[in-house]
Amino acid sequence: MDENALLAAVPDRLFIGGRWVPGSAGLLTVSDPATGREIKSIANASVEDGAAALDAAVAAADAWAATAPRARGEILRRAFDLVQQRRDEFALLMTLEMGKPLAEANGEVTYGGEFLRWFGEEAVRISGRYGTNPEGTGRMIVSQHPVGPCFLITPWNFPLAMATRKIAPALAAGCTVVVKPAELTPLTTLYFAKLLEDAGLPAGVLNVITTSTSGRVSAPIIADPRLRKLSFTGSTEVGRRLLQQASENVLRTSMELGGNAPFIVFDDADLDKAVEGALLAKFRNIGEACTAANRFIVHESVADEFAARVAERVKGMRLGRGTDDGVTIGPLINQEAVDKVAALLDDAVARGASVLTGGSRVHRAGTFFEPTVVTDVRPGSDILREEIFGPVLSIVRFADEDEAVRVANDTEFGLVSYVFTRDLARGQRMIDRLQTGMMGLNVGVVSNAAAPFGGVKQSGLGREGGLEGIHEYLSTKYTLTPDPFGV
Ligand code: NAP
Repeated sequence: MDENALLAAVPDRLFIGGRWVPGSAGLLTVSDPATGREIKSIANASVEDGAAALDAAVAAADAWAATAPRARGEILRRAFDLVQQRRDEFALLMTLEMGKPLAEANGEVTYGGEFLRWFGEEAVRISGRYGTNPEGTGRMIVSQHPVGPCFLITPWNFPLAMATRKIAPALAAGCTVVVKPAELTPLTTLYFAKLLEDAGLPAGVLNVITTSTSGRVSAPIIADPRLRKLSFTGSTEVGRRLLQQASENVLRTSMELGGNAPFIVFDDADLDKAVEGALLAKFRNIGEACTAANRFIVHESVADEFAARVAERVKGMRLGRGTDDGVTIGPLINQEAVDKVAALLDDAVARGASVLTGGSRVHRAGTFFEPTVVTDVRPGSDILREEIFGPVLSIVRFADEDEAVRVANDTEFGLVSYVFTRDLARGQRMIDRLQTGMMGLNVGVVSNAAAPFGGVKQSGLGREGGLEGIHEYLSTKYTLTPDPFGV
């Protein structure tokens, strides 16, 4: 399918109660960040549309919870198969609305699709416990139940995977959902909702609202006592605000928030592997990933060689529209993102850092920033404290292991850490000492549908994926009965 045919095939309405309906707040437009051109206008939801979406999720909740786990799982499995069939369409759509190179968008289709397969399989493995109480007089039954209607808010950087990572476990657990994608990249979610409709998902189980006023539309949904769960992926700043709102009704929450990942290279590291890992951990998704390595903490004895080698590779990267052959670095999501990256780099340089390659905005249509390597970044620089969310690899030096750990942990975040060492004992010490929810030990990417993804400290609450992911959408019930059942 070519770009125009694909864009025409994407629904331009809200999906509420199994029907595609216009938004009552007019239209919002979606642009291609590589060209700045508008690519589609879609429905803009009002507060009333948000309420209607929650009404639909509430109305469908009991029947979906009572649907056999096998039937729920098979719908997810059909959805997985349809994602594979429509792989090229999803990849192109993400490149058009978000900017990532087509090969990476394809990688996201694989990753995002896997949540459907994984949780389709997990749907039939929701289990509990049965046992005798310590006094020997009763039987204790522990069972798991769908938590109820959920509100799922997703960011723009992984438009498919961030949606499936929430939708698949929620549906597998027997919960109905209202999904709100980011205003900048709503098309993938709308196209995915159509796919779930095609896979046979009953009306009202999934509802999608797209809006240019996320705060205004979301607040009443979160305040509604019928809502039982809020799952959010996005910035720590917005996450904090939503946690405050959620506290009013003591709402269950999952929070996948920002990161500031350290990438530690010890003097005994395999430098070839460290360089490959660094390129992946930094430049995948144009650096716009919560898991992106933000601070390269490199032993002073290998720092110059590491910096020179990554800079050499970065010089060979090709910047452009993600649909063009050979492009490895697409545009940033918008002008604000470019300005932020430029400001962080300016601050680092003003404090004494040196740019080895790149370092500038690109003056052409679209919102591009050159892939950059900056070294000798000084303590206290903003770039070490804030999420860069762009293609800038920034290096600091360390002298001993304790210093590396201290610098790595010196952040309010704790999502993921990367460590390169050939010393097994040191690897184990890093697992013990780094304040992090995930770790890549001699590897630059950790994401996997079968793994519990999530952070500690201000990187969030809860886990997505793995055996843990479905429990975010289940509540535990304990029943005591005399032996034998008191009858
Ligand atoms: P964001 O600005 O926090 O937005 C995330 C989502 O929240 C969007 O759908 C946004 O909608 C919505 N939103 C914003 N303000 C809201 C409000 N007051 N009420 C309800 N919803 C609101 O984050 P982003 O810029 O899209 O994404 C980048 C951030 O996400 C980074 O910090 C990154 O680290 C984090 N992230 C974390 C993970 C993880 O798993 N830990 C994964 C990916 C990204 P609108 O955009 O339409 O306003």
